[in-house]
Amino acid sequence: MQVDLLNTPIEYLKGVGPKKAEIFNKEFNIITYNDLLHYYPYRHVDKSKIYKISELTSEGAFIQFRGRVRHFEIVGQQRARRLVAQFSDDTGTIELVWFNSIKWIEELLLQRREFIVFGKPTLFNRKWSMTHPELIDPYMQQESPVPLYFHPLYNTSEKAKKGGLDSKTISKLVISLIGQIKEVITETLSDEIITSLKLLPRKEALSQIHYPANIDLLNKATLRLKFDELLFTQMKLLKMKLVVSQRFKGHVFSTVGDAFNTFFHNHLAFELTNAQKRVIKEIRADMGSGRQMNRLLQGDVGSGKTITALLLMLIAIDNGYQTCLMAPTEILARQHYDNIKRQLAKMNLRVEFLSGATRSAGRKAILTALQNGEIDILIGTHALIENSVIFKNLGFVVIDEQHRFGVEQRAKLWRKNKIPPHVLVMTATPIPRTLAMTVYGDLDLSVINELPKGRKPIITSHLFEKDRLRLFGFMKEQIDSGRQVFVVYPLIEESEKMDLFALMEGYDLMTERFPLPNYAVGIVHGKMKPEEKDYEMQRFINKETQILLSTTVIEVGIDVPNATVMVIENAERFGLSQLHQLRGRVGRGGEQSYCLLMSSNKLTNESKQRLSAMVGTNDGFEIANIDLRLRGPGDLQGTRQSGMLDFKIADLIRDEKLVIYTRDLAKKILEDDPELQKEKNWRIARHLGEIIKKEQNWGMIS
Ligand code: ADP
Ligand code: MG
Repeated sequence: MQVDLLNTPIEYLKGVGPKKAEIFNKEFNIITYNDLLHYYPYRHVDKSKIYKISELTSEGAFIQFRGRVRHFEIVGQQRARRLVAQFSDDTGTIELVWFNSIKWIEELLLQRREFIVFGKPTLFNRKWSMTHPELIDPYMQQESPVPLYFHPLYNTSEKAKKGGLDSKTISKLVISLIGQIKEVITETLSDEIITSLKLLPRKEALSQIHYPANIDLLNKATLRLKFDELLFTQMKLLKMKLVVSQRFKGHVFSTVGDAFNTFFHNHLAFELTNAQKRVIKEIRADMGSGRQMNRLLQGDVGSGKTITALLLMLIAIDNGYQTCLMAPTEILARQHYDNIKRQLAKMNLRVEFLSGATRSAGRKAILTALQNGEIDILIGTHALIENSVIFKNLGFVVIDEQHRFGVEQRAKLWRKNKIPPHVLVMTATPIPRTLAMTVYGDLDLSVINELPKGRKPIITSHLFEKDRLRLFGFMKEQIDSGRQVFVVYPLIEESEKMDLFALMEGYDLMTERFPLPNYAVGIVHGKMKPEEKDYEMQRFINKETQILLSTTVIEVGIDVPNATVMVIENAERFGLSQLHQLRGRVGRGGEQSYCLLMSSNKLTNESKQRLSAMVGTNDGFEIANIDLRLRGPGDLQGTRQSGMLDFKIADLIRDEKLVIYTRDLAKKILEDDPELQKEKNWRIARHLGEIIKKEQNWGMIS
């Protein structure tokens, strides 16, 4: 009965009807009462009263004070230039800050000092301040009194507004909704947790988040809803992990045999780093435990993840299993295939390649051999997860650059053998802890935190158009001493044509600067056929070309140790983690390598910060942290599709402490009561059950 009311289609809410319901569906993805209940306001405006500065206890809504500007000055240079004013009432002082319209504000303050200020106070370095507050003439306000109010503002869109759904209407609908359903909102946490953490009851939180009685309650409601969102995300991930480990037995790899030993002793071209050795041990232990492994292997670009995975694949083969390696692009999969085939050339193992482009005859032969168990290692793109690809006895799967594969694809791989294979996903995009906990929260983690010996840190510089001649001179120097150069151009969908044009123009420029017969320039872009791309890549790998121009297709994984220079054109148009990935294409051999970031002179503040981060550090984890700070988690490369970061109210960066706290709490709860059968956990069990029922991923593992 309760569930039914909350799941009522939004159409039936008084004042909505079929037309508005359609807008709700299309514009905001609101289908049911419950969806509207969870459509939180993005901001609250409190003009219900004039606050005293001494009343400030927490950040929260937009509120107003009345007082005087006692003092102001303009400080800082350029972008940091700002007007700072000290504003006091008879109870305290708060700082007001303007970055824009400085001149205008200055003139205003020269005329008058008494104001009502309206804005959102924030606490910074233990001092209260407001950025860009509204300045209201108190006498004006007395003359034309504005109604006093404290109300929510909802995100809306032009289309929605046209259809009658502006913020105000939405807020009215929410009031009427809450009136109807408040009593059926169920609690999700135990009384014990609620009391000990002094949380607001959920019913209270869900109404206060829309219509808070005061700021304090707004903050409490926000905290409670963030808490729920994060806790249940973690519960879900940990439960998934638990279910998998209970339900799935794992293949036991008990021996290290011929394949591994022969390769390790006779064909491995270098000594493994300590981190590689440690990780191999870690993973071996896991694959020998009788549990099915699902593990994430993190390691900065160039840390040698591939060879680590190959050694583990050999162990799987030693134990009588087949293995496969899956990569996100054709080029990358090809490269893995070529490298591994070459490395294993003297060994009696069969390695095959399969992608969407594999022609039907060859494809059939491979599929048959695979099913007969004649193929030891299958390498390819996500063509490997198709149902037609059947192994005789798949024991171990490696997924490279995993951020493009989601939980569902992982689950598809599990089903490729009666006992699911062990899965190792490798990512070269290091991500901060809170994010990893959330996006990959169902995986165990291994980290290669060391680069192979003898690597010299890549030298990164930021250049402008005026430096172009110098750039050409430098490229020439490097090429003349036997090295090779990548030049990368941006390619974004909206302006594909123009970008392609820029690439071709670049090609003309380069061939003119670096003419045959002494030099040869190659080119690779997304519009080429796979064979053409392969051909060009191969020419570069064989040193038949010295310069390779490309769009970002070379971004992931490509390994050409003789290349020492990475030139990135229009570097300001790339994301930070992408820039770092690209830089990782050089510095792979023993030679000093360089990354040269070309940009225009006009840069936004953010692109400036990105480029200076690149110049400032080579450390992928540091880069990831800066990236996250600059862009927010929703934008982090590849993670958006995962759907794991669609938080309504929590924020993985700002709420870091809460993420960690709820992760620990979720762990504790499940350790104490894995099946969630204890009386005190019944509400959690019920709510988790509802969440899980909604998600189809679970169908795959049960
Ligand atoms: P990534 O971790 O970015 O995938 P790769 O696996 O492509 O890195 O390795 C980068 C390069 O380093 C490759 O040329 C590989 O052969 C080499 N390499 C890997 N491990 C070592 C090592 N221990 N010592 C020297 N070179 C290594
Ligand atoms: Mg790699």
